[in-house]
Amino acid sequence: MPWNRPLIIGLLVVLLALTWWRLQPGDEEIRHSRLIMGTIVEIMAGGQDPDELEDAIDAAFAEIERLDKLLSRHNPGSDVSRLSQSDKGGKVAAETAEVVALGLDVAQQSGGAFDLTLGRLKSLWGFEKETPTVPDQDALSVALAGTGPTALSLDGQQVSKQAPHLQIDLGGIAKGYAVDRAIAVLKLHGVTSAAVNAGGDMYLLGQRPQTPKHPKRFWRIGLQHPRQKDAVLETVQVRDRAVVTSGDYERFFEQEGIRYHHIFDPQNGLPARHCQSVTIIADSVALGDALATAVFVLGPKAGLQLLTQYPQVEGLIVAVDGTLHTSPDWTRYQVTP
Ligand code: ADP
Ligand code: MG
Repeated sequence: MPWNRPLIIGLLVVLLALTWWRLQPGDEEIRHSRLIMGTIVEIMAGGQDPDELEDAIDAAFAEIERLDKLLSRHNPGSDVSRLSQSDKGGKVAAETAEVVALGLDVAQQSGGAFDLTLGRLKSLWGFEKETPTVPDQDALSVALAGTGPTALSLDGQQVSKQAPHLQIDLGGIAKGYAVDRAIAVLKLHGVTSAAVNAGGDMYLLGQRPQTPKHPKRFWRIGLQHPRQKDAVLETVQVRDRAVVTSGDYERFFEQEGIRYHHIFDPQNGLPARHCQSVTIIADSVALGDALATAVFVLGPKAGLQLLTQYPQVEGLIVAVDGTLHTSPDWTRYQVTP
């Protein structure tokens, strides 16, 4: 049979076009959010078959819900509740041990600015309550008794408490860890392009699928201005990175003109006063989460000093007076306007 050149060329063109179409990330990004860990968790994924993406996103949410059950102070059966109720501590799940190990490391590196033993202090302030109030000095002293970077220790999956009344709070790191695990689940499902955001604890996986609305392939994140609602302080662009922000504008109340927020200085039990917000870019969200809280407590000078201990970690600090302070390689992520 003679070759029909126009037909073959035509078929080849169709085949090439189809291949090109398959290789292009899908235009559709799927985005879902759920209320978990006391915050809105948003997962966005794209670049492949929508049904597969839906399954992957469901599994990632299930993982965050599973970890919340393990790590929450509010679930009576959680590892954290069991540890708080026990006199001496006890055995915990491998995941809890991983969070505690990282938390204790940052507690030590930060000279105790990051502290996993502030459970009583957190309950005392009662930010979850309808009308939180400022506790008196005696109550603060009682809540801080026995807390500190050496009050808790870990040996394998065995957590030991130095004092029976110590209460554990993983609120400064658990959300970050859960986001890391959600990303791991998405990857297991073959997802290569995703963003997971748990109230300012984010991970940006791969490259953003290109669409007419988003022609740039890096993920671009607008960082919230801590004092101007809905204003962007700076834009960063990343791939395969955690971007974590801790701010005094997230959870706070005002009494007699003073702002009281939920990041405590373990030295005095009061809201830390040196910063308005801290953004950390790191490899893992758990580390970024703990460091954002620690740097917030330490303030710009000691905070940037702490970051030098961690390779591949950059930070942007808005000090209490509104001045900006950045680690040396922060500019690598900055989008110049
Ligand atoms: P968010 O939860 O808004 O993302 P953070 O990551 O900064 O903010 O965590 C704040 C939470 O961390 C508080 O609600 C509390 O549970 C816990 N926390 C507060 N102060 C400290 C501290 N000095 N060290 C460790 N955890 C803290
Ligand atoms: Mg934190």
